[in-house]
Amino acid sequence: MFDYLIVGAGFAGSVLAERLAADAGKRVLVVDRRPHIAGNAYDHYDDSGILVHKYGPHIFHTNSSEVFDYLGRFTEWRAYEHRVLASVDGQLVPVPINLDTVNRLYGLRLSSSELEQFFAERAERVECVRTSEDVIVSRVGRELYTKFFRNYTRKQWGLDPSELDASVTARVPVRSNRDDRYFGDTYQAMPSRGYTRMFERMLAHPNIKVMLNADFREIVGEVGYRELIYTGPVDEYFDHRFGKLPYRSLRFRHETVDKPVFQRAPVVNYPNEHPYTRITEFKYLTGQDHGKTSVVYEYPCDDGDPYYPIPRPENAELYRRYKALADATPGVHFVGRLGTYRYYNMDQVVAQALTLYARLRG
Ligand SMILES: Cc1cc2nc3c(=O)[nH]c(=O)nc-3n(C[C@H](O)[C@H](O)[C@H](O)COP(=O)(O)OP(=O)(O)OC[C@H]3O[C@@H](n4cnc5c(N)ncnc54)[C@H](O)[C@@H]3O)c2cc1C
Repeated sequence: MFDYLIVGAGFAGSVLAERLAADAGKRVLVVDRRPHIAGNAYDHYDDSGILVHKYGPHIFHTNSSEVFDYLGRFTEWRAYEHRVLASVDGQLVPVPINLDTVNRLYGLRLSSSELEQFFAERAERVECVRTSEDVIVSRVGRELYTKFFRNYTRKQWGLDPSELDASVTARVPVRSNRDDRYFGDTYQAMPSRGYTRMFERMLAHPNIKVMLNADFREIVGEVGYRELIYTGPVDEYFDHRFGKLPYRSLRFRHETVDKPVFQRAPVVNYPNEHPYTRITEFKYLTGQDHGKTSVVYEYPCDDGDPYYPIPRPENAELYRRYKALADATPGVHFVGRLGTYRYYNMDQVVAQALTLYARLRG
């Protein structure tokens, strides 16, 4: 008999398993239907011996010292500040948009205050900022919006920015200085031996048993447990009773090339040309030294694994109905990005799992 059955060996499930086993002395069974631990953060060595992220680039960043220190028990860190270039008008320029982006694109030599003036002259007046389009055109005007955001968003979401919540583009800053880091967080680092190694250390406790290639539905009748922690899709748990929660998916094309460097930055975005949105070169992220290099192309699509909850009011409403059901289901705790239908970064999921643990511990 297990104290807890945990569905999903990603960040949400693994953090809870570790805390419940190591801190509270509980007996825990973790099941995942994939053939590996670490959920979407899973990394592995490809056929050429290069460390790659199977489900697209995962860059760790957080402002929470609690989350950073907690994960630091299971990994050493490699300092890493992420940088992205975008291919626009035949040039590679920094994103988020900053002083160098505009100066290079238009052949100007503006100062920071002149750039603010540049934006202000072009910004459109929007009475009430509701959509992703409103966020950008009211900050930098329609031309930069079109070059950097409109087509990228259409590709990424299959929807025009005017049809998406403000939250999607509000995540991306616009800077008037020369800071070209993608994130502004206090802690920016990568697990020095990779994510999977970090998860292995988290789950290596005698009170934790892990079963892979095991779907919750197939094993639920066969194991004894007191409480359930569910990090899979909440609508699936309730047999899609109110309909499916919509997700956007991605197809990944991994490639290894026979030269040491492929591109000028860890990630290059393609807002306008090509069916893919971006190319990531992993060696920048991992610091690995190798004569070849591996990259991944991302093609957004509707069908496939659920990756991005689509932030529209009607979907939030549908989720509220599932949440009401979830809240009324005793002995089952829904957590993680699929369990709560929210796009969360890794650090946010760790924080959410630690909060749930504190509640369970009472
Ligand atoms: C392309 C992409 C890039 C990202 N990049 C970043 C980044 O750079 N930085 C960042 O902080 N975050 C990033 N994220 C977000 C990050 O992936 C999530 O925050 C994190 O994976 C969430 O962990 P989780 O445990 O909630 O979910 P998951 O990692 O998805 O784990 C859930 C697990 O549950 C399993 N499962 C589901 N249903 C069942 C079932 N019925 N039976 C058994 N097992 C089941 C699944 O197989 C899965 O392994 C990115 C996400 C994507 C899609």
